[in-house]
Amino acid sequence: MNIADRISRLGTETAFAVAARAAAHKAAGHEVFPFHLGDMNIPTPANVMEAACRAMRAGKTGYCPSPGIPELRDALALDVNAARGTSYAMENVAVQPGGKPVIGKFIMACMNPGEEVLYPNPGYPIYESQIEYHGGIAVPYRYLRDERGFHIDLDYMESRITPRTRALIVNDLQNPLGAQCSKEERERLAEIAMRHDLAVLLDEAYFDIRYGGKSVSLSSIPGMAERSVILYTFSKKFAMTGWRLGAAIGPREIIDVIAKLNVNDESCSNHFVQHGALEGLTGDQSGPLAILSTLKERRDAAVELLNSMSGVDCPCPEATFYLFPEVTELMSRKGFKDDYAAFAEDILVKTGVSLCTRLHFGRPLHGEERRFVRLAYSGIDVDGIRKGLLALKTYAAQ
Ligand code: PLP
Repeated sequence: MNIADRISRLGTETAFAVAARAAAHKAAGHEVFPFHLGDMNIPTPANVMEAACRAMRAGKTGYCPSPGIPELRDALALDVNAARGTSYAMENVAVQPGGKPVIGKFIMACMNPGEEVLYPNPGYPIYESQIEYHGGIAVPYRYLRDERGFHIDLDYMESRITPRTRALIVNDLQNPLGAQCSKEERERLAEIAMRHDLAVLLDEAYFDIRYGGKSVSLSSIPGMAERSVILYTFSKKFAMTGWRLGAAIGPREIIDVIAKLNVNDESCSNHFVQHGALEGLTGDQSGPLAILSTLKERRDAAVELLNSMSGVDCPCPEATFYLFPEVTELMSRKGFKDDYAAFAEDILVKTGVSLCTRLHFGRPLHGEERRFVRLAYSGIDVDGIRKGLLALKTYAAQ
């Protein structure tokens, strides 16, 4: 079989390779502490499961409308409006089998081959993959770290804009950094997007995963909803990663295109799962609240232990379930100056802690000298966090 040329431009999530390595280590009889994948070991709220089962028994097992069942589209528009101050209607919502498909569909709808798209680096690796796969030029922008945590280097971002720049991807409440934009950052981002007439993908996968304060969307700035598509997902807020349900929310003309892509790609998202999600949005909210309190307990345990380690410095994000500690000193002390893969392998073998490194989140940028790893605490409970990170602390002290 000949494989088409475009496939050589398709990237992947290399975190899955870390999962495979961790599984092999476990199969060989070792204890493994899974800090690598952003999957969740927390059950989906019972009312959501019951609603999906009820729908299945009631025969909601056939195809349904490509952009989603009207009740869910309506509920999503209301939910997003209430949290973001926007004025979307059902027609602005195209339900998707997960949040991830919104990325490729946004690119297909907005970007011509040869055009440039700005994306965060370190960032979710699927942006780079989809831009390049569809023949675009993936232009990374970077983050700076100060005592508050990470923030976008907006001057650098703007310096990378050319007449061919068509779109900007913003992942506020960011994977892997846990970063959130300040009000000033959001205002400047909006100003840049409008001045350069950019379409914007607002990846808000972690909008509802926060432990203090309030999430604010770039879409609430006047003029932004008209040029933005929100990536919404049920995966994190309702611990529904494997159910596969999300949505693209934005201006009617682009949502119609995305709904047409739905017809071509998957016909529709799972019918009875949409009824479960509807209950999630409109029913008892104790489930998502309990998920947040579980995650917060894990974050507090993990951040405290990481900051007690020699050569490790970890900001405490208010949102997401990721930590991105700096390990420059530890890595060089252990003799792995630039070799992230060998460092992660050494940690796995000596402590059982399985983690991702900066390399799993995009090609490092020119001049990057500080070293970072990423730990996810969505798939490991507090006991595992304590045991694993105490082993890592001993390793760091040696
Ligand atoms: N965007 C970001 C930043 C993510 O981290 C993820 C998942 O980890 C997604 C989108 C997609 O998630 P899902 O397809 O499960 O909705």
